[in-house]
Amino acid sequence: MVAGTRRMMPPMEYVRLFDEAAGLDGVIAIHSTARGPAAGGCRLWSYADSSEAMADAFRLAEGMSYKNAMARLPFGGGKAVLRRPAGEFDRRALFEAFGRAVEKLDGRYVTAEDVGTDVSDMECAARHTRHVAGRTALPGLAGGDPSPWTALGVFEAMKEAVRLRHGSSLAGVTVSVLGVGNVGAGLCHLLAEEGARLVIADIDPVRCARLAEQTGARIVGIEAIVAEDAEVFAPCALGGALDEATVAALKAGIVCGAANNQLAAPHLADVLMARGITYAPDYVVNAGGIINVAAEYLGESADQVRGRVMEIGPRTRELLEIAAAENLPPPLVADRMAEGLMVRERDLETV
Ligand code: NAD
Repeated sequence: MVAGTRRMMPPMEYVRLFDEAAGLDGVIAIHSTARGPAAGGCRLWSYADSSEAMADAFRLAEGMSYKNAMARLPFGGGKAVLRRPAGEFDRRALFEAFGRAVEKLDGRYVTAEDVGTDVSDMECAARHTRHVAGRTALPGLAGGDPSPWTALGVFEAMKEAVRLRHGSSLAGVTVSVLGVGNVGAGLCHLLAEEGARLVIADIDPVRCARLAEQTGARIVGIEAIVAEDAEVFAPCALGGALDEATVAALKAGIVCGAANNQLAAPHLADVLMARGITYAPDYVVNAGGIINVAAEYLGESADQVRGRVMEIGPRTRELLEIAAAENLPPPLVADRMAEGLMVRERDLETV
């Protein structure tokens, strides 16, 4: 059995973006519009060449289709990837040009911030298109920093995973958290309030020290954290935290964290399962951020965001139960569920 059976379909549509005067060089990839407009952030990153940027856009757009479908959002999956110009550049001109490109797609793609972009970039894009979220929150409406919502979703998923495996609450359970930035720190506060014991690691010692003071967390080195005695490991830094070495060294029986693309390779889902470790798939548990972004675009309230985020716990429990009953790695079950949701919506559109 090998996990990771995604068919890696090419995007149904992609648009190359090029505006030399504005420094714009990138691509918008639309993987799926089966559930609604393709939604996914805009990444600004240094790529060796255009084909590398396009490959990243296709992969990320596909990931958004799965994440949005699994979160039951009325959106398909898309992504914009822009090549960071070398040296100094006019950021405002670049994102205004990007906004014009988004507008040309007439609502088939909805953008927001991602790695390398922020609220002010989205405000520049918004001068030319309304198909943009991740802007400053308006009173009473969804919007603003998505991190607290992502942390809440991970927390709810973790509660269910612990209940399923240990039949207990999080009180007295030890959780090791790798990466205590916006989401990781928010998660630690929720866990501390619940009575969990915390072990934390981050490349930033100042963040660690501050959080330890606030929550009583114990600080360990980033290399040592996977071998700590803990019931749960929460990767909340960058992707790829679970590689051959860390999976072999992992002491925790549950992995549940916010980082995107936690598995360095798809087959590691099988290795985790063979070791008896419960893995709550990253894109299922970390959907709180995109739920908030989607609600902002749809003009919904923060209460509606909370309602959708609170569904992440029961959803995680359901998929872990199915995975256990069918003896399959949870990511495989998650992909199958998400694909079913994409197809079902498309079928509904044609009847
Ligand atoms: P962040 O930049 O605020 O925090 C990341 C933290 O990881 C920082 O404290 C950084 O010092 C630390 N870090 C970086 N490299 C590290 C390493 N090698 N070892 C240990 N620590 C390291 O980012 P964030 O918004 O908290 O996001 C964390 C993760 O969650 C990312 O993978 C992100 O893609 C994912 N995610 C975030 C959201 C959101 O709403 N912010 C939503 C979905 C997924």
